[in-house]
Amino acid sequence: MALKKEKYIWMNGKLVEWDKANIHILTHVIHYGGSFFEGIRCYQTKKGTAVFRLPEHLQRLVNSARIYRTEIPYNIEQLTAATLELIKANNMPSCYIRPIVYRGYGELGVYPMNNPVDTAIAVWDWGSYLGSEAIEKGISVCVSSWSRPSPGSIPMLAKVGGNYINSQLIKMEAVAGGYAEGIALDSNGFISEGSGENIFLVYEGALYTPPLSASILGGITRNSIMTLARKLKLEVHEENIPREMLVIADEVFFAGTAAEISPVTSVDKIKVGTGKVGDITRSLQKEFFKITRDGEDPYGWLTFIGGASYEKKKKK
Ligand code: PMP
Repeated sequence: MALKKEKYIWMNGKLVEWDKANIHILTHVIHYGGSFFEGIRCYQTKKGTAVFRLPEHLQRLVNSARIYRTEIPYNIEQLTAATLELIKANNMPSCYIRPIVYRGYGELGVYPMNNPVDTAIAVWDWGSYLGSEAIEKGISVCVSSWSRPSPGSIPMLAKVGGNYINSQLIKMEAVAGGYAEGIALDSNGFISEGSGENIFLVYEGALYTPPLSASILGGITRNSIMTLARKLKLEVHEENIPREMLVIADEVFFAGTAAEISPVTSVDKIKVGTGKVGDITRSLQKEFFKITRDGEDPYGWLTFIGGASYEKKKKK
């Protein structure tokens, strides 16, 4: 889906016109992949426009940078204010939010520490990531021939631009094979995650998901689903999962900001369960949508924008 232009992008403390938010070709990040970023959704709920788990996303941004010895020049309070200001300035009832911190223009060698740390936030309109039918009907996926980097090579808990070169291999191979997404294994051969989503399995009525040590990103949707599952009195197991569990599981689904809860109905052309979206997946989707669509917020996961001009207009 092509990017749809909005009015402003926030760059280093200022609102800049969309077309002027540019960087030089010799900027460090372009050559060496050193960016820390987030993907966050702002929903148009029945109770108003609200960002889903904004503090948790911004904390992960800070953590990603910290792993790479980088201090972001803005604190979480300032980044929160900037995000809300930008959504209001662009007058968006819902959007995808992309904060990015990167090594800027200066020197051009692997060592990044002499380069400036630049910060930007962009928002745009983004629908369903895996296709509009994915959430309703489920998707066909494959196990990738590419695995996630081993824990001693790249720290996958950091959400870093460079990590997504591995994700691109996984995704391109899957699409070339006619699948919507690929599932990567970790360096020990256990299930890790999709190219941009965490994975869950339902087996004998309990929920299984790989642990943080399986080279996954610690997903905020993953964390939310574990909370919702416990509310539904489901047992939740965070443990190493052998790949063959994918074909004996009753249900499989992806979880992520972009994918939300996307059921997987076949893996390597073998049906998962009945080949239809399972009951537990559906009930977790229902709980998730109560928050993100209806704006019910028993966990304090929503930051309501409030006061945006389209909301004022609506009230008149
Ligand atoms: N794993 C990877 C590799 C991802 O890129 C994402 C998306 N950020 C996720 C998992 C899901 O994380 P979240 O639920 O925080 O979006």
